[in-house]
Amino acid sequence: MLISIVVPCFNEEEIIGRFHERVTAELESLESLGLPGFPGFPGSPGVRFELVYVDDGSHDRTLPLLEAIAAADSRTRYVSFSRNFGKEAAMLAGLRHAAGDAVVIMDADLQHPPELVRRMLRLHGEGFDQVVARRTRTGDRVTRTLTARAYYRLINRLVDVELMDGVGDFRLLSRRTVDAILRLTEYNRFSKGIFAWVGFRTTTIEYENAAREQGRSKWTFGKLLNYGLDGLLSFNNKPLRAALYLGLLLVSVAAVYAVWIVGVALVKGVDTPGYVTLLVTVTALAGVQMVMLGVVGEYVGRIYYEVKRRPHFLVKASNTSAPHHHGELV
Ligand code: UDP
Ligand code: MG
Repeated sequence: MLISIVVPCFNEEEIIGRFHERVTAELESLESLGLPGFPGFPGSPGVRFELVYVDDGSHDRTLPLLEAIAAADSRTRYVSFSRNFGKEAAMLAGLRHAAGDAVVIMDADLQHPPELVRRMLRLHGEGFDQVVARRTRTGDRVTRTLTARAYYRLINRLVDVELMDGVGDFRLLSRRTVDAILRLTEYNRFSKGIFAWVGFRTTTIEYENAAREQGRSKWTFGKLLNYGLDGLLSFNNKPLRAALYLGLLLVSVAAVYAVWIVGVALVKGVDTPGYVTLLVTVTALAGVQMVMLGVVGEYVGRIYYEVKRRPHFLVKASNTSAPHHHGELV
């Protein structure tokens, strides 16, 4: 049984060496152990593993370090992008190149404890296709925890697939899950939604959130906001539906108000005051229309990106070829 570890890396020169040591040490201990007590793999031939690093256009020495790691360790492969295409693209590249019977996606900054792979494999052996690591939010800033909680409450009301707070990309995927994910070729990738959309037997394990050891998180407030919007818009057209209902509601209110105004004018005679009402109504309606236009524009923009059918990433260097292509024209 071959296990692939997929690692997206963006400017991780400070930690990538240590990451490789920790992960290989952990996986070697698994290899030597074999998989005792694995119900899913009776008489299991044991595990082998490979590492697939994806350098997402780092500006630092990440690529030369990966080259050195790969030269010294034949189980290691790497793909390097021509520029920074984002973590989603990096994960996609990793999944395409992964040859394993099971694939584990892991961050390079050691926030995802390698020791969890063992538990993930055990659960995979029990028949689970996705073993999802869910971090407890201890150590996070209170504001971040609260916004996250509010966001997930909102989004789960809106989106068709269920998204869970604290769940990231750290997870084990069975071969058939990976193949299913590779069949989703949309340009705009919101992997949290994609993972939930493909389904299969899924289970969750909890782990304590480790602080980033070196380097800095690449998430800024703006990026988080955009990510949140992506989550809302990528997986449904409910915002469009909401726009429609809001429009209908406003039209009804306006109709009632018009009848009332006409009635008053008929009974009391024509009355000119109402400047404020007029101004407020016009501005409010203009605002609502701008928002609705924005919602529609978001979808049109997404369609525009999709129809271009551009590749998700461009590879500049790599020590591996023959990725798994599923339906995508290259
Ligand atoms: N990453 C990437 N491309 C990017 C940003 C991040 O491949 O454009 C990688 C990064 O190297 C790390 C993982 O994605 O392995 C998670 O990034 P980070 O630690 O910055 O995010 P956080 O842990 O704060 O969510
Ligand atoms: Mg991190």
